Parts: sequence; C-alpha cells; structure tokens
Amino acid sequence: MKILILVGPPGSGKGTQAEFICKKFGIPQISTGDMLRAAKRAGTLDKKYLEIMDSGRLVPDEAIIELIEGRLQQPDTGGGFLLDGFPRTVPQAEALDGLLAKKGLTLNAVVQLDVPRGLLEERLVNRRTDRKTGKIYHLMYNPPPADAELEHRADDQPATVQKRQDAYEAQTAALLPYYEAKQLLRRVDGVGKPDEVTSRLEAALA
Ligand code: ADP
Repeated sequence: MKILILVGPPGSGKGTQAEFICKKFGIPQISTGDMLRAAKRAGTLDKKYLEIMDSGRLVPDEAIIELIEGRLQQPDTGGGFLLDGFPRTVPQAEALDGLLAKKGLTLNAVVQLDVPRGLLEERLVNRRTDRKTGKIYHLMYNPPPADAELEHRADDQPATVQKRQDAYEAQTAALLPYYEAKQLLRRVDGVGKPDEVTSRLEAALA
C-alpha cells in the first residue's frame, strides 16, 4: 500500500515521472489537471473553472477537494495511489489529511521535483501531448513519432506559463515546509534527462 504525492512547479516533469512511479508500485495516477481537462473535453466543466484554468490561476480549493473526495471513493484506489498536481495549496493539504484520516490511511512520502524556474518555460512551450495515447513529448528533446496526434495545451502559451509559475511560488511552494515538518518530504533533482530523473526518484523512494 503506497500513498504518494508528487509536487513540483509546472513543467518539472510530474506527468512524465508519474508514469514510472505508477508502474513500479502498481498504483493509479490521480492528476487533478487531467481530471479537469477530461471534464473540459466532455463539456461538463463549469465555465468559470475553465476560464481560471486557461488563464493559469488555481481553481478554488472547495471544487478541487470535492473532485478528489469523489475520486478517492473509487475502488481502484484501494491499494494506494499517486497524487499528481494535488494538493496545490495548504488548505488542500489539510483537507487531504482529513480525508486520509477518515479512511484510516497514511501518506508514505511527498516527492518534490526540483527544477529552477529558468528552465521551465522552455519545457512547457515545447511540450506536446498525443491525444490518442496521452504520452507527453518535447519537440526537441523527446520528439513525438510521425503518427502522433499532437495537442498543445491551452495554458502552455508563454504568458500563461509565467502566471502558472507565479501561482506555484505564491501558493504551492508553501507545501514544502508543511510536509518537511511532517518528515515526509523527499527532494529530487529534476534537471536532466527523464531517465536520469527516474533513477533519482527510484533511489529516493527505496
Ligand atoms: P501543471 O502542468 O501546471 O502542473 P496541471 O495539469 O496539474 O498543470 O493543472 C492544470 C491547471 O488545472 C492548473 O493551472 C489549475 O488551473 C488547475 N488545477 C489542477 N490541479 C489543481 C489543484 N489541485 N488546485 C487548483 N487548481 C488546480
């Protein structure tokens, strides 16, 4: 039973590394960003949240907590799970503590993917996702195959990327001391090739 959190700024590689962690431990990835984008595609996302997302700000805590609460009731989470992109604020972290306590579950570790801000914009503006497979590519460093159906996220435009980084620094970075105080934080250097970062993650979780 593993309950893990991946935290790091937008573009730090959470989605890429989540795939490895989930395979290794046989647990599902729970990404609030992916859940919100799925609701957007299905046309079920409240218009005010859609505008917030596309502008690079954070969706209100109450809405996100409700989303997670529903997700954690699904049976595939019974053997553990990896949270990616949640919590993103201290109130969300406190709500998660409450949800886990109610279920008698404990958090095993919070892995911080550390990448300096100067490297992030370039990663995001060159990021593309294959809408068929969900795989994440970088136009130069991890080029997609010719038959991929590439999608560029609405919030991966340069001005929006800056707003998302600001939101991370203003709201999400406060999670690091929060989990450090609980002795759950493991810092991993996120600079380098995806495989190199994966090896560091593996060591940090061993
Ligand atoms: P990133 O690549 O920036 O880490 P995500 O795919 O995790 O992005 O999230 C995309 C957007 O969805 C965020 O910028 C925010 O608007 C919204 N979002 C996702 N998760 C949360 C959350 N836990 N709290 C508030 N807003 C969220």
